[in-house]
Amino acid sequence: AQAEIGLIGLGVMGSNLALNIAEKGNKIAVFNRTVDATRKFYAEAGELQSQIVPCETIEEFVAAIRPPRPIIIMIKAGEPVDQQMELLKPYLENNDIMIDAGNANFRDTMRRFDNLKDSGLTFIGMGVSGGEEGARHGPSIMVGGKEESWKRVEKVLTSIAAKYNEDPCVAWLGENGAGHFVKTIHNGIEYADMQMIAEIYGILRDGLKMSATEIGEVFGTWNKGRLNSYLIEITEKVLKAADPITGKPIVDLILDKAGQKGTGKWSVIEAQNMGIPATAIEAAVAARSISSVKSEREAAEKVLGLPAVGEFKVADKAAFLKDLESALLAAKIGAYAQGFAVMAQASREFNWNLPMPTIARIWRAGCIIRSVFLDEITTAFTKDPNVANLIVTPAFADMVKETDGALRRVVSAAALGGLPVPALASALGYFDSYRRGRGTANVIQAQRDFFGAHGFDRVDGADAHHGPWGSGLNA
Ligand code: NDP
Repeated sequence: AQAEIGLIGLGVMGSNLALNIAEKGNKIAVFNRTVDATRKFYAEAGELQSQIVPCETIEEFVAAIRPPRPIIIMIKAGEPVDQQMELLKPYLENNDIMIDAGNANFRDTMRRFDNLKDSGLTFIGMGVSGGEEGARHGPSIMVGGKEESWKRVEKVLTSIAAKYNEDPCVAWLGENGAGHFVKTIHNGIEYADMQMIAEIYGILRDGLKMSATEIGEVFGTWNKGRLNSYLIEITEKVLKAADPITGKPIVDLILDKAGQKGTGKWSVIEAQNMGIPATAIEAAVAARSISSVKSEREAAEKVLGLPAVGEFKVADKAAFLKDLESALLAAKIGAYAQGFAVMAQASREFNWNLPMPTIARIWRAGCIIRSVFLDEITTAFTKDPNVANLIVTPAFADMVKETDGALRRVVSAAALGGLPVPALASALGYFDSYRRGRGTANVIQAQRDFFGAHGFDRVDGADAHHGPWGSGLNA
């Protein structure tokens, strides 16, 4: 029988995804630009070999798949995807589906859709989260494209997706770039989540002078409570891991310079383009950038010194640890609220009709930000799918009211102690700005009118739109 699906790109993600597909009883044809990788992959596939058709030419590969052919392209994002699609196209027939499963910028995905519009070929932009382990045993999968293309791949993707209480973490989210957009925001939230954890670690390390192992214990305890999540779980593990060479905690030997591949930055750019605040994600992206200028930071520490604040003091360590746990939860709510608000606006601008409860639902397992917390978001959005912001749903409003005091105390303590907490502080600033009916932009509007005659609206609705500034600026 012909293969149900094809996959190009046997790198880390592609080979694991292919094994997952084969293991779930789907016959799969595979191809890789470098033939050696295909041979090696097949040789190591063990008993799954019977489900795999290794192909050394594109022609052979395409012929091995049942039409209309769904072909997953899981290669380096960007230009390589365009090159690979061009090489593939001459062999394809009407209704065949090229599926870009890499971390594409959704604007590239939109362009690829447009380019294929009159070709008879179709396209899916598919976000896959969960890293290597997720790809092998169950990722979270975010699909964008035509609904009929989705129907062709629904069965295979459902079989390989992560399950949260039997519920598969895969869904069709909308047309064209919807899947890759949602994956981008997933990664943006992931940046914020990771940064907030790192900031709390910083308070414990540099404020409370705790060792990596002790901090690992704290995260381990938190993982049993409301913060229970994959990222907290692995944070405990990385903090407790010892370096095999020196026996020291490995985190103490890892250089404090973070890498990034672009999805966090894209989240922020798109949020800014649409005028939706995503300050926690912005802070997280900026924190990675500042981390990368290590030598500048070292030079600045020599010039400025650390803040002259004396010893970091907390009156009651147990109470402070409770505050840190609540503060992390509060800040996390802020980051997720922002991510979902960005998606809601994109949904309007790109006519995707993104299903918010479904997005939260398919993030509950398989992906990097998976957590019990996402189950609570699913419930909140299911009750109120069109709510303006997550933090005004009854359940999350209660959580914010319960935890924001702790966030305020933690951010204050960090500020007074000279410890940087840009993401935590941004979440606090977001809550405080968003919940205040009367803000301070009346002054901004007055200034704009003063220097640029930009005009303003009045609270009393009166029909006078310029201030009495003189120099002929009055209306
Ligand atoms: P790898 O570096 O492991 O593999 C890269 C693959 O791309 C190889 O198969 C390589 O083929 C192929 N490739 C590179 N350039 C070209 C080209 N011009 N034409 C054809 N094939 C090419 O990457 P990953 O598996 O880690 O990542 C693949 C995609 O998945 C990326 O978009 C990544 O962002 C995304 N992703 C990765 C995650 C991860 O945790 N690693 C998580 C989620 C998404 P060859 O063997 O010939 O070099």
